Amino acid sequence: MKYQIAVIPGDGIGPEIVREAKKVLDKVGQVYGHEFEYTEVLMGGVSIDAYGVPLTEEALETARKSDSVLLGAVGGNVGNSRWYDVAPNLRPEAGLLAIRKGLNLFANIRPAYLYQELAEACPLKKEIIGDGFDMVIMRELTGGLYFGERYTKEVDGVMTAVDTLTYNENEIRRIAVKAFDIAMKRRKKVTSVDKANVLDSSRLWRKVVEEVAKDYLEVTLTHMLVDNCAMQLVMNPGQFDVILTENMFGDILSDEASMITGSIGMLSSASMNESKFGMYEPSHGSAPDIAGKDIANPIATILSAAMMLRYSFDLDQEADAVEAAVKKVLSQGARTADIWSEGCEKVSTTQMGDRIAECIE
Ligand code: NAD
Repeated sequence: MKYQIAVIPGDGIGPEIVREAKKVLDKVGQVYGHEFEYTEVLMGGVSIDAYGVPLTEEALETARKSDSVLLGAVGGNVGNSRWYDVAPNLRPEAGLLAIRKGLNLFANIRPAYLYQELAEACPLKKEIIGDGFDMVIMRELTGGLYFGERYTKEVDGVMTAVDTLTYNENEIRRIAVKAFDIAMKRRKKVTSVDKANVLDSSRLWRKVVEEVAKDYLEVTLTHMLVDNCAMQLVMNPGQFDVILTENMFGDILSDEASMITGSIGMLSSASMNESKFGMYEPSHGSAPDIAGKDIANPIATILSAAMMLRYSFDLDQEADAVEAAVKKVLSQGARTADIWSEGCEKVSTTQMGDRIAECIE
């Protein structure tokens, strides 16, 4: 089959890691008989240099017309780049917010998986790690506290700040459906995280999630309060399969979950809309400190491409093949500088991409 992919290399290490992900996708295409056609789109600093804005309408339209988007990263050195002395809406990261909004990407999916080969980098004790962990955090991305009405004003002579947390049942239902759909492709377990002992929005969240669960009888649903979940992630991470939660809780818990895997260069992510359309990108930034040196770890981007195969194109076998190839290369001892340890072979960005592509079968 033929798939149209909008590719956004972006800034910093973006072009290097995206190049390697395309290399791996092309090998998947060869082995499994698919054609991936790429259209390059400018976003971030490179778009500012070319057009004066971080994302043009045309770029957004190209992304919208494609089957999915593969993104590297955008942004320069924080506080020390030509793109920072400009209004906030003209900075590289504004392109990211604009494309998420423009494509209605309300569901953010971040896997946290511990590779046994990299278990040394995990900050948890061995007895807690056990056989490892393999979870996905499904975070609602366009509602809740970050998008509610907010203001600061003086009330009876006292400065008072107000943020509003609003969710309606439709917003909750559509993200819950995504979480259950993804659980169906995994170990069929959803942990819905809320603060239903205090918040009205959480009580509605729980009610709607339970309604959605009735359509997924094979999936086991449990509820967990967010404070307990923060503890459980470092006490027994192996218990989780899919964690479903609202925007702010997901922001905090997904960072906690990624921290316990120990390596930022390995973490993929996806943001999806109501259909199968998604934007796939590594969880890390553009790493300007190592850009252009061929030393960045391309694995997070390669695993993001695997998520694209699985969630946008329903190519589960092909996604499995990419994930298996990453594991195989790690088990052979190949490591980019960020995950290198004594006794391993240090490889470049290009070599890591070559090795993973070679192992696709
Ligand atoms: P960063 O994630 O780019 O880098 C943090 C540290 O991790 C750096 O030392 C970097 O060298 C290292 N690192 C990151 N990815 C790596 C990889 N694949 N291989 C090896 N090492 C890697 O975060 P930052 O330094 O805070 O931000 C740099 C720029 O990226 C900023 O402009 C920021 O706004 C932007 N940013 C973009 C995105 C995005 O495009 N989605 C996300 C976060 C940050």
